Amino acid sequence: MSKFASVPIIVGGGFAGLELAKSLSWLGVSDVIVLEKGSSNGRNLHNNVTMNDTEAANIWLNYKTDPAYRQSWNSGHPPHYDYGSGERSLLGGRSLYWSGVVLPIERWALRDWPPALVAELCGNQRDGGLYGEIQSELVQQLPSRRGRCIEAFGLVFGETPKAITDIDDSHWFAYSPLDHWRHPVSGESPGMPGQSNFRLNREVLKLDARDGQIQGVQTVNKDGQYEYYRSSTVVLAAGTIPSAKLAIDSEILVDDTAVGIADHIVQGFWVKLDRDKANALGTLIPTGSWVAFLPEPVRSNIFVELKRAREESPLYLDIKLTGEQQRLTTNTITLDGSGTPVVAASLSSADKSLIQHQRRHLSAMWSEICKTIGIAPHPLDFAPYELQSTGNSALIDGTLSRISENTPLTWSNFLGTEDHESGSLAIGEVVDQDLEFRSVKGLYAVGPSVFPRTGAANPTLTTIALARRLATTISQRVGGTGSSHDRQN
Ligand SMILES: Cc1cc2nc3c(=O)[nH]c(=O)nc-3n(C[C@H](O)[C@H](O)[C@H](O)COP(=O)(O)OP(=O)(O)OC[C@H]3O[C@@H](n4cnc5c(N)ncnc54)[C@H](O)[C@@H]3O)c2cc1C
Repeated sequence: MSKFASVPIIVGGGFAGLELAKSLSWLGVSDVIVLEKGSSNGRNLHNNVTMNDTEAANIWLNYKTDPAYRQSWNSGHPPHYDYGSGERSLLGGRSLYWSGVVLPIERWALRDWPPALVAELCGNQRDGGLYGEIQSELVQQLPSRRGRCIEAFGLVFGETPKAITDIDDSHWFAYSPLDHWRHPVSGESPGMPGQSNFRLNREVLKLDARDGQIQGVQTVNKDGQYEYYRSSTVVLAAGTIPSAKLAIDSEILVDDTAVGIADHIVQGFWVKLDRDKANALGTLIPTGSWVAFLPEPVRSNIFVELKRAREESPLYLDIKLTGEQQRLTTNTITLDGSGTPVVAASLSSADKSLIQHQRRHLSAMWSEICKTIGIAPHPLDFAPYELQSTGNSALIDGTLSRISENTPLTWSNFLGTEDHESGSLAIGEVVDQDLEFRSVKGLYAVGPSVFPRTGAANPTLTTIALARRLATTISQRVGGTGSSHDRQN
């Protein structure tokens, strides 16, 4: 069956795709079609609205229990992109799972981005650019905490900027572009677009690109019925690996290969502290979530979080480093004989050296903590990175509550399990700085897939910024107002 649409088509109703749809509607272009492979799970609320922290961590890390989880790719280099690496296929995508950390990509990493785009992201001394604008819109810090800094471990930490809103002691939600259409807590959806805008259970199978111009997309629904949607404007927002799969399958990428996939290198440790030790640590770090940047050779953001469930319960210290993985042309996505993506990504010698620097730094911090809380300092015990049996799955099923007090539990994530995968359709290589494919007019990509370099920062602030910028480009192309006039959530 053929569907004719002259309106823009967005492939993927996850974070990037919905942010683009929302921004287009702000610009007066509400006539778009979002094709989403997954379905609706009812109210499509952020997981932490209906679940407490342990339950929400379980549905993420104990991924086989998550009805939305799909293992849509295979690993060419296990353990990377293997255990637990996959999609969350439902309307909202991973915007219903994320933790809300919104950090700009660092200037040293933006050196590999086009300067004009960097200027829009970062602004100048008088205006904070898209980064500043979005951070101040999404991060609602209590006035008493605004701009608060602490000094610890020889570093100055700021409060971690998070786009989250507390509901009660154990429930909260992080921003989702779906908040534009439905209430983030009740799920009521007076403004939810009807069937005409959000087409669920529609997997895009192929892009129809002929004569250097996108013509439309081929879909299949859950009953196995095929549909063709014609459009001269199509945006790939299906996630870093599925978007690359579509481009390869549709013979848009050279040598049928997407090159340069990268993830963050993340490791850390957890400690449960007894009351005395917790009081002693309180002299070094207040409760809350703090972030600082560690320059070369660690090149990582350091997150320190101290939390206590209830006044009388033990205090948990969670310290982790998030570092930049090098983007290498040898880290690739190809398709196997059945059309399933195979991710062949491994660690370079620079990545391995970063892992060792991170471990040394974490050990030094632990020694300082030992001195502060009055226990004998000792180095942290990490297993070899690629043999590490415990990732951050220590959070599953209350493992943490069962560990001995004052004894650190170390963990390291394999590539592909942090959900920060990026760089498969990079700006400057596959798409231009307006996110349009160099080889196919009218075809765009958005999301972490287009990052030419990730830096240490979590990806979503940049994803939101790029989606908003792309909305302006597309609205000018299809004749929207080009300026925001419908900004309401
Ligand atoms: C637990 C967790 C915590 C996180 N915390 C943070 C954080 O604090 N800060 C941060 O910056 N980032 C965080 N992230 C990462 C962030 O959520 C992702 O980077 C972001 O969601 C990626 O957006 P996306 O649109 O590319 O992919 P997604 O949000 O995954 O959306 C892709 C959508 O496309 C659909 N799709 C796929 N293939 C097709 C197809 N062929 N046809 C139609 N539809 C298709 C999928 O079903 C999915 O809905 C976190 C992620 C997780 C899981």
